[in-house]
Amino acid sequence: MSLRRIRLDENTSRVKHCTGCGKALPRRHEGDLCDDCLYNLMYKDVKEFVLHNDVTELEVADHFNLPLEVIQRWIREGHLSYKE
Ligand SMILES: [Zn+2]
Repeated sequence: MSLRRIRLDENTSRVKHCTGCGKALPRRHEGDLCDDCLYNLMYKDVKEFVLHNDVTELEVADHFNLPLEVIQRWIREGHLSYKE
């Protein structure tokens, strides 16, 4: 048992953590969720959108203001797929 007094480190207190997965966020990150959690959250809406609209990956990225690479990752991972 240590009897030394502790103090809150100024630097670490400024590090934010994602409320979704607990991952440390970049200091300048806006919001409480990391990008991954944010995208996962949006996936539900994207799914609905793709289901009811005839759109390209570019239009989806545009509509949701998402990076195109995220849409492409979802396609690669099988969450979304191209039409025949
Ligand atoms: Zn997260």
